[in-house]
Amino acid sequence: MEKKPPSVNDLALSMQNSGIPHELLVKEARLAIAEGDWESMEERVERLQRSFIQPVVNATGVLLHTNLGRASWGIPQSHFSSNIEFNLNDGNRGSRQTSIGNLFAQLCGTESAMVVNNCSSAVLLVLSALATGQGVAISRSELVEIGGSFRVPEILELSGAYLVEVGTTNKTRVVDYQKAIEAHRNVAMALKVHQSNYKIVGFTEETTVEELSSLNLPLVADIGSGLLDSSCPWLSTGAPEWLAGEPAAKQTLQSGADLVTFSCDKLLGGPQAGIIAGKSDLIEKCLRHPFARVLRPGSHTLVSLQELALRYLHRDGDKIPFWRMACFREDELLLRAENINAGEVTTMDSVPGGGTLPTVVIPSIGLKLPGDRSKELRRGVNGGLPIIARVQDGDTYLDFRTINPDHDELVAAALENLG
Ligand SMILES: *Cc1c(COP(=O)(O)O)cnc(C)c1O
Repeated sequence: MEKKPPSVNDLALSMQNSGIPHELLVKEARLAIAEGDWESMEERVERLQRSFIQPVVNATGVLLHTNLGRASWGIPQSHFSSNIEFNLNDGNRGSRQTSIGNLFAQLCGTESAMVVNNCSSAVLLVLSALATGQGVAISRSELVEIGGSFRVPEILELSGAYLVEVGTTNKTRVVDYQKAIEAHRNVAMALKVHQSNYKIVGFTEETTVEELSSLNLPLVADIGSGLLDSSCPWLSTGAPEWLAGEPAAKQTLQSGADLVTFSCDKLLGGPQAGIIAGKSDLIEKCLRHPFARVLRPGSHTLVSLQELALRYLHRDGDKIPFWRMACFREDELLLRAENINAGEVTTMDSVPGGGTLPTVVIPSIGLKLPGDRSKELRRGVNGGLPIIARVQDGDTYLDFRTINPDHDELVAAALENLG
């Protein structure tokens, strides 16, 4: 190592071609010199570069990869202002919720809908608007934790409502709800939470939405994953078998739920956001609550969601990246994998991921490379996009179901350079 350190400015200037703003380079240079390790400057700058949010190739076989932003959905690019809160028809102030809400109400076959930042926000807003200071009846089997920090009892506490636990962990019947509601005089609503990321098997009994709708209380179903309609009219091939049993917004509302809440970046296949859909008087209460402002999404999210909603209404599942990858046939995947002259073509199991459908696997095709090559792939071979692969038993697997076919050439080039 050189004995005498370079000047901070010279060291920063030596990495000017990285495209990183000078003052960030200066900060790195200062650190490198302070630690007596200025020869690592290039590596430090690469690390910094890799810390920026950027496109990656998801070759993991996890369709909704939580660390890769769940559903794959492009970032809208527009250099214009938008009429987000401006009514082009009369020139007056408009609501950012009206138009997008109408699209989702249509898709869910219901009266009204609104958008917030994610499904956790949706649940928090509903509880706050409908039940603060009052009881919420929930089955003991549905007091779940989803995604590490969404815990039903904690969100409930935050809303100022209180928990009225019903039934037992494995069995909850409608009479249990009736008893609990009689015992606590002040129950404002019943909440049914989809267990999403786990399954109770064996000696179990669940109360259906239909049964719960007889309770004479507003019934809210947090279905979580955002499947709009169990018959999947946007897919020319109909609903895939592995979706069986997953609650869908339209059918849940038809069965008697007054509101449903769900995420937009799980099975809906869009950007991070949350939807509340159902009876317009209840949506109105949510819209009027101060949290509606706190939890409101910005125009980028709304533009993205509008585009997604229109694709659903056009029944264009092929143009929704999540559904497109979910529906690739194995023979299509096989052709693509065989086209790439690297590794060994192999069958694989993709999974839905994102805390949905915990027991489902979707047959897939991929490439197996001997040894763990994940680090090189992750760093982007020869300046290419980072490729996120799966490592199993010491070997590297690239699952073609989650790779966008437009990126096959890029993957081929990376694997060729990898050697
Ligand atoms: C995923 C999920 C949530 C949390 O949704 P986010 O959009 O991640 O906030 C809440 N409830 C259920 C049932 C879920 O599946």
